[in-house]
Amino acid sequence: MSRTTAPLLRVLVLGSGTSQGVPMIGCRCPVCLSRDPRDRRTRASLYVDEGTLPFLIDTATDLRAQCLREGISDVGAVLYTHHHADHVLGLDDLRRFCELRRERLPIYGPAATLEILARMFPYAFDSKTQMATYVRLLPHPVEGPFPLGRFIVTPLPVPHGHVTTFGYLLECAGRKLLAYLSDCQAVPENILSAIRSVEVLIIDGLRDEPHPTHLTAEQAVKIAAHAEARQTYLTHLTHHKSHRDREAGLPGGVGVAFDGLTIILD
Ligand SMILES: [Zn+2]
Ligand SMILES: [Zn+2]
Ligand SMILES: [Zn+2]
Repeated sequence: MSRTTAPLLRVLVLGSGTSQGVPMIGCRCPVCLSRDPRDRRTRASLYVDEGTLPFLIDTATDLRAQCLREGISDVGAVLYTHHHADHVLGLDDLRRFCELRRERLPIYGPAATLEILARMFPYAFDSKTQMATYVRLLPHPVEGPFPLGRFIVTPLPVPHGHVTTFGYLLECAGRKLLAYLSDCQAVPENILSAIRSVEVLIIDGLRDEPHPTHLTAEQAVKIAAHAEARQTYLTHLTHHKSHRDREAGLPGGVGVAFDGLTIILD
């Protein structure tokens, strides 16, 4: 059946893998050798299309390949979660979107993250020397809710080892549409209340073994239940379990993200 109106929100999982991706270089484990395309996981990021201002959450190391794979030809803004390499090293690939839009791309995130990005990629932030075909960014450090396209975006500070990362909550007309918590070791009570009854939760569910900076799949499932999320997807996944085996052990309402997963909200 063809659509007569554009969806309110289309969320595309560009990458669902942990920092090294799956398969891992040189690994011969069954998951790294799997022929299931869902076991090929690039580094974690999202593409969010809401009709007027398509934006990314993070510029993962694999950004160029992800955009080519998904046919993405427009990005109007980026939300950054934190400065770890897997989430930022695709930054230079934004140059093509700056070129196509002929403008500096607004980027949002924790002040500390944007300062680190400005040190890592000084040319992208230098308004004097940048050429039209270079990546050109306009940093917006954020702490509280801010408007973006049709949404109100609320940063969700969560612990991730020694770093505090931002998750993000997207709301529109009083609906909590999406919460994205890609890298976290816990979800504090105030963040749980902020995302309570969210329609879609995409959350760090790294692996079964406890990890000092990430949630296990079991912890993520418990948090999803506490938050009363209507639909949850685990992301930032390692090679320790195949997509199929991971999915088999999950309760109703909880699934496993994969590269290319598209979630439509009307
Ligand atoms: Zn990460
Ligand atoms: Zn492996
Ligand atoms: Zn991280």
